[in-house]
Amino acid sequence: MICARQVFRCFRAVERFGDRVTGAAGPWFVGMAAILVSAGAFAFFEVILPTMSHPILSFFPCALIAANLGFHYYTVCTVRPGFVDDVHPVSSSPERPPEGGPGLFWAKRKGATDHMEGVRWTRALNVTPASMSRCKKCGVVRPERAHHCRVCNRCVLKYDHHCPVRINQCVGLHNERHFVLFMAYLVLATFFLSVCGFQKALDALGFNFIADWPYLTPEILYVLIYMLSVVMCLAVGIMLLWHMWGVVKGETAVESQDHEVYRKIARSRNDNFVNSYDLGKRRNLEVFFNIGPDGYPWYTLLLPLRVPSYTDGRSWARRDGFDRHGGVVAGEELTDEEESEEP
Ligand SMILES: [Zn+2]
Ligand SMILES: [Zn+2]
Repeated sequence: MICARQVFRCFRAVERFGDRVTGAAGPWFVGMAAILVSAGAFAFFEVILPTMSHPILSFFPCALIAANLGFHYYTVCTVRPGFVDDVHPVSSSPERPPEGGPGLFWAKRKGATDHMEGVRWTRALNVTPASMSRCKKCGVVRPERAHHCRVCNRCVLKYDHHCPVRINQCVGLHNERHFVLFMAYLVLATFFLSVCGFQKALDALGFNFIADWPYLTPEILYVLIYMLSVVMCLAVGIMLLWHMWGVVKGETAVESQDHEVYRKIARSRNDNFVNSYDLGKRRNLEVFFNIGPDGYPWYTLLLPLRVPSYTDGRSWARRDGFDRHGGVVAGEELTDEEESEEP
């Protein structure tokens, strides 16, 4: 139908325009966010910390949270998400993924010299090489779980989504861990600021009839930061929960939509869809953060450190007994070409 096609085209045009606008404004958003996070940290240490019952003892956990927040924000913005046509900056060897880079900010782990192909874990995983397909938009040959990003106009390994507002790039295989940890530390930091800074917010607003405000942080800025921090704590907290739910289920944001479709198709055949990337809740979390008996120590989650992904994005751990999703017949897999095809 001509009408439906025109409406569809119109939606596409609006969407592309939105992409362009947010894409162009992205660096400004990131700059603003960096300034706000820094101002929030400054206000916390200047105004709120001295009012806490054990300021010196409290300084260390608070400083650790601030360091993690700054570090993961910097890394999620600067570490490339894993473009399919990128050669890895640390190791170009395709058969052995890099163990990490040199320098202070890479986590180290003992042992672990023999790897399975494409994967940094040595055992206990059922790993299969990814199936390959050609992207119709950029022409690159890409492994499964890679998707084409419309804003970057490139294919990204284990593509999750493109985040124009806070990080101005894609979230993919190489920065997804930093993305989740950035959100987690942002929620933690804004939670402490909201709870511990409440009295000072009342002071700044004049509710406690205290005229004295002997701080470098202006009262109006403090109130602004406080209100923003309450809002961010709730909003990012919900996003974090939603994102973690996907991690626990072993699927990315794109895959959770695809899997809904697969589920319907399988049901229409009286079959059951099985996500073969779902290794069980605990193992999904371990693989995502690359921690656990075969990965890095769990305390790397608490430190501002870089940890490489468990895979090079060309091999995937799967549920035992599966080398592809259950309930999906070959040729039925969705590719992101479908979404841009006209009805
Ligand atoms: Zn592509
Ligand atoms: Zn992108």
